[in-house]
Amino acid sequence: MRYRHLFGPVPSRRLGVSLGVDLVPLKTCTLNCIYCECGETNNCTLERKEYVPLEEVYEELNDYLAKQPELDYITFSGSGEPTLHSGIGNVVSYLKQKYPAYKLCLLTNSTLLNDSKVREQIKPIDLIVPSLDTATEECFKRLNRPHRGIKCQDVIEGLVKLRSEYSGEILVEIFIAPGLNDTPDEIAALKSALERIKPDRVQLGTLDRPGTEEWLEPADYHTMQNIAFYLGNAEIIGKFKPGPKISTFNDSHSRQIYETLKRRPCTVADLKALLNLRPAEIQKYINHLLSKGKIEIDHQERGIFLKIKNNKDGKN
Ligand code: SF4
Repeated sequence: MRYRHLFGPVPSRRLGVSLGVDLVPLKTCTLNCIYCECGETNNCTLERKEYVPLEEVYEELNDYLAKQPELDYITFSGSGEPTLHSGIGNVVSYLKQKYPAYKLCLLTNSTLLNDSKVREQIKPIDLIVPSLDTATEECFKRLNRPHRGIKCQDVIEGLVKLRSEYSGEILVEIFIAPGLNDTPDEIAALKSALERIKPDRVQLGTLDRPGTEEWLEPADYHTMQNIAFYLGNAEIIGKFKPGPKISTFNDSHSRQIYETLKRRPCTVADLKALLNLRPAEIQKYINHLLSKGKIEIDHQERGIFLKIKNNKDGKN
């Protein structure tokens, strides 16, 4: 079966082996972050609706989970904001009832958490990883470039409400963008917000893949350490280590590579970790995709990344 709404499983630096469930079309999001690995948001919206048919999602989940794969998490994530799908609660209930052995995770940009319906729908999820990069409106506009209907303070209120109603684990993720949210005032504002939100854990990350804006640089480790120290309980996330051998998603390694690159640029090392193949084998699939013009090489200061080739007609 060819999957349209599932991807991976990917070895994640936070989650181990995680099967991704993508509930919205590419770049359907409430934000347009400067660091987004998936490019510019082409549908910046607050509208919640059934972006992809639930029946298709159930069919794919049943097909994949019938093989009883070993997974650390089934994760709602992908190339947009998963809580924009009005049926995310249905998928959560479906998985909890039919496949209770699997833990669920949600990666969210936090912008819809001020909506009580959203909070109710995601309550049964085991781990929620909301992002909060700033606690000031000015920086929010520059760094996350939100839909005009979203205010940073409402996002923080949503997180505070989530904490008071949700008994699972909350891991707040903060992306550090040098020159934007690494100033003393910014970090002090973030610390105050975190004191109200009371997450179980906080993780700091910075650029390690090409983002939407080419001028964006990664923060240096010293800055990250200072911020982590000031925030008190924050952990700096490094590059993930290769995970255990995982069964391939379908018979086509090249399709798995292509589907992964559709969601984020990767180095050859990332792809090796994903497929757990020998370097020569991985190279064969990469060469195949390069020769078909489906992917291209992007030389960055941080290394050589492979990414989807954007054709002029907008099709991949
Ligand atoms: S990083 Fe996440 S929240 Fe930001 S634009 Fe990309 S998909 Fe949306």
